[in-house]
Amino acid sequence: MTGAIVGPDAAGLARAVRILRAGSVVAFPTETVYGLGADAFSEAAIGEIYRLKNRPSWNPLIVHVAGLAAARELADEWPAAADELAARFWPGPLTLVVRRAGHLPRIGAANDTVAIRVPAHDVALRLLEASGLPLAAPSANRSESISPTTAEHVVRSLPDVPLVLDGGACSWGIESTVLDLTTAVPTLLRPGALSLRALREVTGAIALPDSETADGAARPAPGMSRRHYAPRATVLLVKDVQDVDRSTLAGPVAVLTYEGAGDDGTETLSADPREYAADLYAALHRLDDAAVATILVQDPPQTEDWLAVRDRLSRAAAK
Ligand code: AMP
Ligand code: MG
Repeated sequence: MTGAIVGPDAAGLARAVRILRAGSVVAFPTETVYGLGADAFSEAAIGEIYRLKNRPSWNPLIVHVAGLAAARELADEWPAAADELAARFWPGPLTLVVRRAGHLPRIGAANDTVAIRVPAHDVALRLLEASGLPLAAPSANRSESISPTTAEHVVRSLPDVPLVLDGGACSWGIESTVLDLTTAVPTLLRPGALSLRALREVTGAIALPDSETADGAARPAPGMSRRHYAPRATVLLVKDVQDVDRSTLAGPVAVLTYEGAGDDGTETLSADPREYAADLYAALHRLDDAAVATILVQDPPQTEDWLAVRDRLSRAAAK
C-alpha cells in the first residue's frame, strides 16, 4: 500500500472531502471501476482530472450524484424515460445522457449534454453525500490504459493521485452502460455492465452505434475512441487460440481464455459473461505485471450478452 491509499472510514472520507472542496481530485471505488472524482462545478478541478490522466480534452466525463433529485438538478430537461430508467436501475451501472443545465460547466466536447449516474457503492455514495458535490469522474487510470478495479491498480496507473479511498475490488469490474436520451429513440453510446436486454424491458427499441468495431469517423462518445482499455502487451483476438503458431509471436506469450474454450490458458476466466467481465481487467493487469509481450485472447461468443466484453477486447486489441 502506498501512502495515497486510505480506508473509507470517517477520517478517510473527511480527508477526501477536504481535497475535493479545495479543488483537487480523489479516487474512489464504484461498483463498475474506480473513478477519479472532481467537483463537477469546478473547471479547475476538472482540468486536474484531464492533466493527471493525460486524457484528450474532447473526451467528456460522467457526473456522479447521490440520487435522482441531484441528477435532475444537472439536467435542463428530464425525459420520462429517464425517470423510468432511474427508478429501475439507480443506484447502478447505467449512465444517462440528457440536456445539460445552464449552471453546470461544459465538460469536454459535450456541448449541451451531460452524462449522469448514481453509483451503487456504499463508499461512493457516502463520499457524494459527505461532500455535497456532484463528482465528475472518469476511470482512475492513464488515458487509453486498463481501467482499475482495485485501489492498487489506481496507484500504479496514477502514482501522483492525491488520495485513493480503498473500497476493495469492484463487483462489476467493467464500466457502466451509457445511454443517450436526447435522441428520438434512446441510443447506446457504450455497451457496459447493464445489459441491453434489461434496458429494452424499460425503453423498448434502442438504437445501436453504426458498428461496434467500426473505425475512424468522429464518435459521439469518448469510450468509443478506438484504442482504449489497452495493456502494454500486444493483444491479439483470435477465433481459436489453439490454431495459432505461437513461435511467430513476440514473447513471452500469454493466453487469455474462458472455461470450455479448450485451452489451458495462462488466465482462464469464467464462461459466464458477467463473471468474465468482473475478472477481465484484473487479469490484464496481472499479465502486464508479468511483463508478457503478447496476449492471445480467445474471441468470446458473438452474442449480445458478450457485447460489453467484446467491445473492450476489440479496443484493447486496436493499434
Ligand atoms: P470513462 O469515464 O473513462 O469511463 O469514459 C467516460 C464515458 O462517459 C465515455 O465513454 C462516454 O460514453 C461517456 N460520456 C460522458 N459524457 C458524455 C456526454 N455528454 N455525451 C455522451 N457521452 C458521454
Ligand atoms: Mg476510462
